[in-house]
Formats: sequence, structure tokens, C-alpha cells
Amino acid sequence: MLRSLGFGLGLTLLLLPCSFPARGAQLKRYEYSLPRMGTIFRIELYAADDATASKAAEAAFARAEELEQIMSDYREDSELMRLAREGAEAPVPVSDDLYNVLAKSIRISELTHGAFDVTVGPLVALWRDARTTRRFPDSFDLAKAKALVDYRNIELDPTRHTVFLKHAGMRLDLGAIGKGYAADQMLAWLESRGLRHAMVVAGGEVAIGEPPPGEAGWKIAIDTADAQAGSAPCAIVLHDAAISTSGDSKQFEEINGKHYSHVINPFTGVALEGLASTTVLARDATTTDALGTALSVLPVADGIRLAESLPGVAVYMVRQEGNGFRRYASRGFPKGCPGR
Ligand code: AMP
Ligand code: MG
Repeated sequence: MLRSLGFGLGLTLLLLPCSFPARGAQLKRYEYSLPRMGTIFRIELYAADDATASKAAEAAFARAEELEQIMSDYREDSELMRLAREGAEAPVPVSDDLYNVLAKSIRISELTHGAFDVTVGPLVALWRDARTTRRFPDSFDLAKAKALVDYRNIELDPTRHTVFLKHAGMRLDLGAIGKGYAADQMLAWLESRGLRHAMVVAGGEVAIGEPPPGEAGWKIAIDTADAQAGSAPCAIVLHDAAISTSGDSKQFEEINGKHYSHVINPFTGVALEGLASTTVLARDATTTDALGTALSVLPVADGIRLAESLPGVAVYMVRQEGNGFRRYASRGFPKGCPGR
């Protein structure tokens, strides 16, 4: 689900720089935020002067806008929507960004045996309606939508850079990977301009560069599913890494008295039930975004096993069980949260 919040305001109005002197250095801290992809994107960086900082932030947000125009499933003229219209007739040549995101999506689908699946679009549409009407989807509609969901029906041609969708009606949804990809791209852009002490927050997806000058890292607060039940958010300190939380405390709707997540189990076609959050740590935010969603779907033990089998990956999960919450962490998840 990558949509614009529809603010008609210009960049300069919403780009709100705040600068603070950094401890013991000539670099100053700057912070900017803007609505992108249906959420708020934030950049924090250290730079020598105001002009360097704001120019860099503006260009990084422009990169996010470019990506939103490619990956949005709300904009009829996005590249993704054009692919949905034409991709089942013949292979469609696509941009490097779309190709790379789809290639990475398929790798994560293979790794998670389909728990993460960008062809989930028809089910997402059905559950969006269910959340609006607060009625469980009709079983016939559910079966019809589910039949269109299978990442193995996306054909990528690496030499011609084309995408072919094997069945008409397939609909791709990059809502579980696009923001992470955007955060990575924005951070890479800042780093390529020499702004290495930087962090990009794209909703729940965070791409983190070198630590603030003189500090051990960036303090990242984790919004877990038990936050609404009064648990204080926990925090960990990171640098040169990425972290995502899927299913934070705000992403649930009630239907017939049950909480349903915006994450769908592609094996059943049904939205995940019960309060839960899954926080993944890895080297890049494309991976943490996609894996965060996938490990929400997989049973806890499978998710932990998978995280522990992947170099540099760690996971922290909070699951509602009975009247309370249980916390699970893989080896390698930093200390700082309950249960660690
Ligand atoms: P996230 O917040 O990163 O977990 O992404 C959730 C969004 O990804 C949903 O709003 C849907 O647009 C999409 N989505 C839901 N379930 C899946 C799934 N199993 N695999 C891939 N994308 C999904
Ligand atoms: Mg995700």
C-alpha cells in the first residue's frame, strides 16, 4: 500500500529543518519530514551547514517521490499499475527500480516459501473493503482472489529487463517492501554526497548510516504490539544497519470483535488475527521491510530459525497470547527490549 497522503503543499512548506549543534564537532544535526507513500518519511543527518543539509534532504525526498510514482498502487499512472494492466498480455519492459524490487521480492518469497508474496494484491483489495465495511470477506470472493496469488507466476527476464504476469487479474502490491527500498535509496543518496552520519525513517522502516558524531549509534524506539496495552516502547542503539517493525500498535482493525492486521497470510487468504508485532534487524531496509512482513506470517519458531540462518539478521516478536503478550527474540537481537 503505497499511497500519497494527498497533501497539495509544496516541498518547502513541509520540509521543516531543525538544527542542533552536535556534541564536540563542527557538524550540526538536521531533521526533515514529509508525507510519502501514505506515511511520514523522516531524515536525520549531520552536516556542516544549512545549505548542504537542506539541498541533500530535498534531493533525497525527490528520490522517494520518484519511487512512489513507480511503485504506488493508488496512482493509476504508476509503473506498477501499468504493469497490472498490460503485464499479462506480453512482457513489459520496466525501470531498474521496479525490476530490482521485484527481483528482491521473489528472493524473499523463495526464502519464506511464499509467506511474503507481492502478488497478494487481490487479497489486499478484498481486506481493504472488509476493514471499511467491518464485514468478513465473502468466501467465494476470497477463493477467487487467493487463486490469483502466487509469486511463481511473475516471470522476470534479466536480459531484457521485462516482467510478465502469467495470469490476467494478477495484482502486485509493494506495500511490504517499497518503503524499505525507498529508505535504502535515500540513505545511499545521502551517503554518496558524503553525508554518512544519517538515518532515514520511512514509516516503520529505518535505514541507518554511521553514528552521530561522538556517539555509539542512533537510538531507535521500537513500537511493539503491546504498546496499546501500556507497555513502554523499548529502544536499541544501532549504526550501519536497518530495522523494520511490521504490525506496530496502530495497524489493526476490528471485525466482529477480533483484531485483524493489514498483513495477509497468503496460504489461507485471511488477514492475520490478534495483536502482534515483528521487528527485524538486518543490513538493509529492503530486507528488513520484506522479512518483517514474512516473519509475521510464519509460525514463531520458523521465523526465529530462518532469522538465525541468515547472516546479520535478527528478529524480535511480540505476540498476544491469552490475556497477555509473549516476547520472542532470535540470537543476535540487541539487548534493550523486554525479554532480551
Ligand atoms: P508491512 O507493514 O511492511 O508489513 O506491509 C504490509 C502491507 O503489505 C499491507 O498493507 C499490504 O499492502 C501488503 N501485504 C500484506 N500481506 C502481505 C504478504 N503476505 N506479503 C507481501 N505483502 C503483503
Ligand atoms: Mg514490510
